[in-house]
Parts: sequence; C-alpha cells; structure tokens
Amino acid sequence: MKNYLVVGGGGFIAGHLIKKLLDTGAKVRAVDIKPSEFWFQRFEEVENFSLDMTDLNNCIKMTKDIDYVLNLACNMGGIGFIENNKAECMISVLINTHMLIACRKNNIKKYFFSSSACAYNTELQKNADIDGLREADAYPAMPEDGYGWEKLFSERMCRHFYEDYGLETRVARFHNIYGPLGTFDGGREKAPAALCRKVIEAKMSKKNSIDIWGDGNQTRSFLYIEDCVEAILKLFNSDFRDPINIGSEEKVSINQLVDIIENISGVKLKRNYQLDKPKGVNGRSSNNDLIKKVLQWDYNYSLKDGINKTYNWIDHMYNTKPNNDFIKFTRNNYS
Ligand code: NAD
Repeated sequence: MKNYLVVGGGGFIAGHLIKKLLDTGAKVRAVDIKPSEFWFQRFEEVENFSLDMTDLNNCIKMTKDIDYVLNLACNMGGIGFIENNKAECMISVLINTHMLIACRKNNIKKYFFSSSACAYNTELQKNADIDGLREADAYPAMPEDGYGWEKLFSERMCRHFYEDYGLETRVARFHNIYGPLGTFDGGREKAPAALCRKVIEAKMSKKNSIDIWGDGNQTRSFLYIEDCVEAILKLFNSDFRDPINIGSEEKVSINQLVDIIENISGVKLKRNYQLDKPKGVNGRSSNNDLIKKVLQWDYNYSLKDGINKTYNWIDHMYNTKPNNDFIKFTRNNYS
C-alpha cells in the first residue's frame, strides 16, 4: 500500500484529492494548520494532524514513513485577499521550502506542488480577449505581486531540488478551481463561490441587486474540482517534470459567469459595478495544448454544469445550517 502525505489536507482541493486517494486504496496522512473540526472534509481512515507547516520540524515529522507528498497548503484566497495580504501570501514560501528540505531528508519518492496561473507574466494579461496562457508565458518573469512571485519561486525550487538532489517533483499551475466543499464566505473566497453566494443572498433577502468587483468585463476560465483532481493524479503518476496548466479553456467574462448563476437561480438582478474593488488582471485563461499532448487529459465539465453543482451546495449550506460552525468559521480569518 502506498503512503501519501497531503499537506493542507483541511482545504478545498486537498479534501477532494484525499477522497480520491482513499478510493484508490491508498493510505493517507493529512495535515493542516486549522483545527480538524474546521476541515472541509474529514475521513476516519486518515491520520489527521493540526500543525503549522511553515515549521521545518513539523515538515520532517510529517514526512517520516511516507512515500509520496502532495502539497496543497498555502495561506491565500481570492483576489481581494491576495491583493491586500502580499507579505502573508509570500510567507507560504516557508511551507514549500521546508517541505522540500524534509522530503529530501526523508527520501520521499515524489513531491507535488500546487502552483497557480498567478505565476504568469501579468504584462500578457492586459486585455480581456487574450489567448489562453501557455506554459512558456511565465517567463520573462513578472507574476502577480506577492502570491504569484511566491508560486514562481517555489516552482523553481522544485526544479532545482530535482536537478541537484534527484527529488522527483511535479508542478501544476491551477486556473481558478471551483466546486462544493470550499470557501464561499469570509474574504478568502474566489469569484465563482462569491458570486453564487451573492446571488443566493440577494434572492433570500429580496434585495434584487448584486455587487460586482470591477466592470464585469474581465475574463477568466474556471475548472471544476472533479476535473482538477483527475488531472493532479494523472500528472503525479506521469514522468512529466515541468510546470503544467491544469485549467479549462472555456473563457468567460465575469458578467457571463453572473448570467449563468442567475439562470440557475431563476433571478435577474441589477448589477452594481464596484470599480474601486480589486479585480486582478483583465484577461486570463488556460491553454491546454501541453497537457492534452503529454497526459492525454482534458476537462469534462462545462462551466454551466460545474456551477450548477456549486450553487446547489452553497444554497444547501445557507438554507439548512445558517448558523453552524462551518459557516461561522468561513466567515472568520484563521490566521
Ligand atoms: P484552501 O485555502 O482551501 O486550502 C489551503 C489549505 O492550506 C487550508 O486548509 C489552510 O488552512 C492550509 N494552510 C495554510 N497555511 C498552512 C500552514 N502554515 N500549515 C499547514 N496548512 C496550512 O485552498 P485551495 O483552493 O484548496 O488551494 C490549494 C492549493 O492550490 C494552494 O496552494 C493554492 O495556492 C493553489 N491554487 C488554488 C487555486 C484555486 O482556484 N482554488 C488556484 C491556483 C492555485
């Protein structure tokens, strides 16, 4: 039986990934800085720990008797969080640095690092109608300030730990992953979950209007969590060592995303464009030529189908457990 360590195991993507690993018969240890009652998903058969993984000793302790490491831990959030907490985002470099050192020390067979589309050169993302970003577009380097620089630096460390010490590393650049059992409130949520929540709140309160950050013309692509987990495992089990996009090529504007959510909800809301709020780059989406070629992977879920599942989960959370600890927790900052 293969022993896996999932770092950031209480988070959104990691929770879904652990579930999939368990389905394949793997033995899993999971660690997160959050107390385990606040993890999005918890599994009885998993060895769960609550530890701060910026600490080297914790990284060494957690990687003992482990074969494979998947690191999904990061102190981050949506665009509002990363634009206002650049230093905090960059401190996650300690997690990635110490994890690599610990993996080398404990002879880990393979290490996965979750990078981001924020690692791409922002100069290439000034227009809403740009083509999907290709892996080579990360250089020359001018990533998103704070968070993006940390991701690009950590990607580079993975490369050099392989070149210098032979540690096998796999690096994914995620493009806006969304789905149920993730943050939808509290300031760390990303656009799909935030907009679903706002539409639900508007509908429940009969407010009939919605606040949108920016003019709504900024474009993005969004990948449903099930597709993401499948791609992570394909990449992890492959021989491909360079950073690779895990995203969707279905590019939409934020206004088009709101149209989809309104259709699911059955409402039509007045849109208040908040031009002073953070909105990120004007245009960003994934080019999947490389992943199609080397991993024979492509996304399955349409945005409409994925948002439908996400909307229904958030709606369920609101309507069945409006005051439970889970929602209270997502309203608060844990750090
Ligand atoms: P998430 O916030 O739900 O999960 C991250 C987890 O890391 C959290 O549970 C958090 O408590 C944990 N963590 C933070 N600091 C820690 C520390 N010091 N020690 C231990 N655990 C710590 O985020 P997610 O959406 O699941 O993202 C997972 C990874 O994917 C992150 O590295 C993120 O940067 C990357 N990513 C995500 C997206 C996306 O759209 N969700 C896009 C690009 C990149």
